Amino acid sequence: MKLKLLDYILKLIYPPKCVFCQTIIDKSDICNECAKALPYTKGDSIYQKFPFVDKCISPLYYKDNVRSAILRFKFGSAPTNSKRFGIIMSEYAENNLDCGGIDMVSYIPLSRKRIHERGYNQAELLAKEISRNIGLPLVSTLKKPKNTTAQSTIKGYKDRAANVIGAFTLIDEGRVRDKYILLVDDVVTTGATLSEAARVLKKAGAKAVYCITVARKED
Ligand SMILES: [Zn+2]
Repeated sequence: MKLKLLDYILKLIYPPKCVFCQTIIDKSDICNECAKALPYTKGDSIYQKFPFVDKCISPLYYKDNVRSAILRFKFGSAPTNSKRFGIIMSEYAENNLDCGGIDMVSYIPLSRKRIHERGYNQAELLAKEISRNIGLPLVSTLKKPKNTTAQSTIKGYKDRAANVIGAFTLIDEGRVRDKYILLVDDVVTTGATLSEAARVLKKAGAKAVYCITVARKED
């Protein structure tokens, strides 16, 4: 009874909102309208190919309410948005990748400095959700020893690629050798970050690196 009352009070103070449009809703974390009208990718637009990446899939386009939901997730202390993003990503993974042939879910690491500032690694939270939803182990494979300039502040493939070269190092070669890995990040723009991470994993003997992000840039 006490817990129910606390729950009630918490709901009054923090009413549940749609992750995307912030409308206050009674149940769930996505309103009916957003569930239907989000800018989902379809057909060939689901997939992208980048160097060292076998296949990259993204369920949404990075625009409108999707963009603001991701920005709140990354910079606005809304880590719980990972739940809804994770549900959407897992569904796309199951429909567009051979999940039975994948050994583990991993994620793009952040530097210690960035984790300290933000309090969490948004890619790791997404990977955790996907790993639970599709029943694959979550494995940390890479680390980022030095802090680099945020990719979102750099324009163009060349400069972004130059910024991430050498950014990631392997945690343990034994974890990735001969493995089929699903690598998670929040947004893919030029693919430079995913490519560099996949290059390091492949060099260590990973058989395949598939990638999944919440959203992708519109062509
Ligand atoms: Zn909504």
